[in-house]
Amino acid sequence: MAKADFYEILGVRRDASPDELKKAFRQRARKYHPDLNKGSKEAEEKFKEVNEAYQVLSDPQKRAQYDQVGHVEFAPGDAAGYKPPSYDDLFRDFGLGDIFDVFSGGARARRRAGADLRYDIDISLADAFYGTKNTVAVPHYAECPTCHGSGAEPGYLRDCPTCKGTGEIRHPQRMGNRQVINIAQCPDCGGIGKRIEKPCPTCKGKGALQKTRRIEVTIPRGVEDGQFLRIAGEGEPGENRGPPGDLYVVVHVRPHERFERQGADLHTTAVVGLATALLGGEITLPTLTGKAALKIPRGTQSHTLFRLRGQGMPFLNSDSRGDLLVKVLVQIPTNLNQKQEELMKEALVGRV
Ligand SMILES: [Zn+2]
Ligand SMILES: [Zn+2]
Repeated sequence: MAKADFYEILGVRRDASPDELKKAFRQRARKYHPDLNKGSKEAEEKFKEVNEAYQVLSDPQKRAQYDQVGHVEFAPGDAAGYKPPSYDDLFRDFGLGDIFDVFSGGARARRRAGADLRYDIDISLADAFYGTKNTVAVPHYAECPTCHGSGAEPGYLRDCPTCKGTGEIRHPQRMGNRQVINIAQCPDCGGIGKRIEKPCPTCKGKGALQKTRRIEVTIPRGVEDGQFLRIAGEGEPGENRGPPGDLYVVVHVRPHERFERQGADLHTTAVVGLATALLGGEITLPTLTGKAALKIPRGTQSHTLFRLRGQGMPFLNSDSRGDLLVKVLVQIPTNLNQKQEELMKEALVGRV
């Protein structure tokens, strides 16, 4: 996904202040607004880009993340509880009402952001350790190449006769000595201003065709179960020039038979023989990446916890690692022969 740089889209320096960003965004949103560029595909694309860039850069946290990792944002937490800002929120928050008609209740409602898509993937603990790449096949609707999304057979998209292509019905009204123009969304075309005289044969008038898109997703090392990647703009397309939704890739890390993970720490158990526990020694134990040596001090009790620093999982996108905690279980022999039993009695009874 080669995407243009968000700072370039807004035409600001990378250290632009929030006010500079806001100013640049408003200027460009006006310039490329679909209502002022009727039918211009290019302006529409630019408008979407500008919105997306501002959504990210205006949020200090998202901006910091964007500066660090680029277009794919990685956020810890629960995908189900995350609610991305809607298109309506965007305009309400950023005070762009002035580029629409103030009295027009319907003009904004007709644009609808596309739905977000969620994709769940399972990875192993080793994949979470090293980081991995995964290809996800995402169903999506692509703009119909025949009608370019209008839903009409080429040449059969006409201006709506009711509103004459404006999408609005205006009712002038006098209030005292002031003239007020009430504007409502055209009921015949739903505010789009166009009427389909003949539906497009390729998409049957829907304006879009369902396709499958393969997206390669990079899963960073240290990822934890339940974390998700948000890939902006890869959800379903918006309606009536609304922005597309986002794609959420939710990562599930499968449990490991030997290691139990707690944050960046790994827990495991190791069995040592009685002689090693009594006299001390060294054992080798498997780790996620190979082997590690563990010194067993003389007189180690069963269930003692040893900590191998830096032998756990990596922290998310970091070079530092958590610890490996090893619970040592001392194995008591159960099948001594007579001679061994006598030697044990002689050595130990009355002393331990
Ligand atoms: Zn079509
Ligand atoms: Zn109309």
